[in-house]
Amino acid sequence: MALPEFPVDGGCSCGSARYRLKAAPLSVYNCHCKDCQRYSGAGWSMSVLIKGEDLELVSGSVVQHLRRADSGNVITMNFCAACHTWLWNDPASGPYKVLRAGSLDDIDWAAPVGNIWTDSKAAWAKIDPAQVNFPKGATDRTPLIDAFTRLHQD
Ligand SMILES: [Zn+2]
Ligand SMILES: [Zn+2]
Repeated sequence: MALPEFPVDGGCSCGSARYRLKAAPLSVYNCHCKDCQRYSGAGWSMSVLIKGEDLELVSGSVVQHLRRADSGNVITMNFCAACHTWLWNDPASGPYKVLRAGSLDDIDWAAPVGNIWTDSKAAWAKIDPAQVNFPKGATDRTPLIDAFTRLHQD
């Protein structure tokens, strides 16, 4: 699946919070940490790693929750102020934001290239060993970024 033309849009369930992603993401991967299981209600959440400057909130507003991650870092989570759909995280460090893939209007192009926190994955969750996988957090996201670049370079 080829990348779409950017910008692309996304938003929350109630339609109040709408955002624009202005450029292609750096990577897409699954996070199997326990908090992602809790917040997503699923076996993992899908993370779209982007440069912070590439995200613009075009309508609505967000409320924030500060979460101490398994890594010890404090992550700022952003939710629609009206319906509380989880939209993106601001990591503790780096010029990044991590969008929740499911909030994009179209997720057909957003196939994940790897997995993080596989140590806490569900026993039945299948990990493709050919992908870029980390047992805990990715302290260096370069392999995830490189794999996404390779997937979309043609
Ligand atoms: Zn909403
Ligand atoms: Zn997670």
